[in-house]
This record gives sequence, C-alpha cells and structure tokens, in this order.
Amino acid sequence: MQCFHCAREVKETTHTPKGYRVDYYLLHTGRTEWTFLKDPKDDLLPLRYLRLTQPVDIISCADCYAKPQIKKRLEDDFNGWKSFFDEKQIEGSEKNSIPRSDHG
Ligand SMILES: [Zn+2]
Repeated sequence: MQCFHCAREVKETTHTPKGYRVDYYLLHTGRTEWTFLKDPKDDLLPLRYLRLTQPVDIISCADCYAKPQIKKRLEDDFNGWKSFFDEKQIEGSEKNSIPRSDHG
C-alpha cells in the first residue's frame, strides 16, 4: 500500500507492548454526484442527494496526516462538508502543455 499524497510505502498497524503504532489513516470516500429523487405520487419538490458514484479509499501516511492542510481536507470530506475530490486533481491524464499567457 502507498500513501495517496507522497506515495511512500505504508505499513500495517503494528502492536507493541505499550499499545500500537499507526502508520497510516484510511479515509473511505469517493466521487459523488448530485442526484434527483422524484416521487411521482406526490407533488413535492424533488429530493436532491449526493450519491457515491465511485468509492475510493484514500491512504494517508502518518507523516502526511500530520500536515494541517491534508488533515483538513480529509476531515472536511469525513464530515461531508467538502468532497476530497472537489478539486480536480486526479482526472487522469493531465497534460503538461497548458497554454500560458504571461503577457496579458
Ligand atoms: Zn504520505
């Protein structure tokens, strides 16, 4: 297993005589999309809810989890405030040839 952020190898939780040592944290999240639920029987407003379309497990090593900005994003997702994938970061093939306009 690898850390989602820094890609370092993470170890399973190891138990020691004094307790245990956690090397990574797992966030079960995923891509979501807004879905409308319509009930044809009633004239109610359609219910809108977030549906999980693509479950993803995000592994965060203890080092990355200690970073405030990463921990905040994980907590925001966990609390349902903001999806971890709101910022389109892992859209797959991201091209390096982004046209720049330095001379505006
Ligand atoms: Zn990491």
